[in-house]
Amino acid sequence: MTTTSTTRSRELYEAACRHIPGGVNSPVRAMRSVGREYPIFIDRGAGARVWDADGNTYVDWVLSWGALPLGHADPEIVDAVTEAVAGGTSFGAPTEREVAIAELVCSAVPSIEMVRFVSSGTEAMMSTLRLARAATGRDTVITFAGCYHGHSDAFLATGGSGLATLSIPSSPGVPGGAAADTLIARFNDLSSVEELVATAGREIAAIVVEPMPGNMGIVHPDPAFIQGLRDICDRIGALLVFDEVISGFRVAWGGAQEILGVTPDLTALGKIVGGGLPAAAFGGRRDLMELVAPIGSVYQAGTLSGNPVAMAAGLAQLRALQARDAYTRLEELGSLMETQLASALAAAGAEGRCAIARQGSLLTVFHLGADLDHAPRNFDDGKLLDTGAFACMHAGALSGGHLIPPSQYEALFGSLAHTPQDVSSLAQAVEHAMSPEHATSVR
Ligand code: PLP
Repeated sequence: MTTTSTTRSRELYEAACRHIPGGVNSPVRAMRSVGREYPIFIDRGAGARVWDADGNTYVDWVLSWGALPLGHADPEIVDAVTEAVAGGTSFGAPTEREVAIAELVCSAVPSIEMVRFVSSGTEAMMSTLRLARAATGRDTVITFAGCYHGHSDAFLATGGSGLATLSIPSSPGVPGGAAADTLIARFNDLSSVEELVATAGREIAAIVVEPMPGNMGIVHPDPAFIQGLRDICDRIGALLVFDEVISGFRVAWGGAQEILGVTPDLTALGKIVGGGLPAAAFGGRRDLMELVAPIGSVYQAGTLSGNPVAMAAGLAQLRALQARDAYTRLEELGSLMETQLASALAAAGAEGRCAIARQGSLLTVFHLGADLDHAPRNFDDGKLLDTGAFACMHAGALSGGHLIPPSQYEALFGSLAHTPQDVSSLAQAVEHAMSPEHATSVR
């Protein structure tokens, strides 16, 4: 279908802006990075589809930024949540579902011997860092430009003028001291890590990484790079922390670590583990997790942690992924997306200006700037992307009835609810959007 009016979205946005900063409760939703004046307000979703406040239908490739690999309102999740809600929404006391989901997570991801549930990926990552600092008695952390670990102070840091210089806060309100202990290296570049290690060496508590990054678009890790991080951590006595908030239960049942064959000390999970409700988790080696209160002294807590409704949703989603042969089917879908989008770009004469990167059902169409001729390997490459051309593709996809993430630095999320027809229709919309006549008229 083709989008007609979005008047109601505009009205809701104007009303929202009176009481909510920017009209949204998380910045990327505002769609500013693709130049839209106002976001599309969603009314409801079912399977791979959403309906907006004006009654337009879209095929949804955002799916709550990856939380919903079964699609919207999957009947098994709806039933599980309905039953949980009817039994009480929160107790602030342990419940049986927490035990069941903890067992499932630990069996899926063997490096997670013990797990603690929290309410967001930000909280999970913040907690891994506190634990790593407590376990090592060190403060410094190495992260990678282009990886995202939520919005806690320590992770809102930007590299200084040179690799080995102190980082600076990437947001007002982050104290200089909180950012100064975060050193930023280049993804897929071990020498940039060694350079930091040479300076900060025995101060480093942890190397924190998205092992298969999704926050600079999909970037393929060199397996030797991730193994190299493990080796460096072992050498200097630091912990290796994998942020699998996107990749966990998405790229494989056991996450990116299953595919890469590298074992982290701590892992953060989010999105899928909560089945579309606010839940996330961090876990890892038993001896480390035993440092967490109440058995250990590392303080970590939450009124709604392990919330019964969120646990019901997460448990239902994980069980359904297991039962439905999900990872074979997600791979097939992703492969179809890649083939058809590549053909669409070729038919539009845009193949030289674009590169596709895919990991299972995660896919990014990169729009290459003049100085870049390959899919990014790190964020230095990412800075050379043509975000204007991406905005053009986004607008074309939207008017062709497809909601794709409104940023060049994200991935499309495929799901078990998407059909081959959805993929062909997306490819058609992209071909139209990228054809020279259309691209010129939009710009
Ligand atoms: N880590 C990664 C890799 C993420 O992609 C995100 C969010 O997108 C987070 C952490 C933060 O999770 P949340 O938004 O649930 O706080």
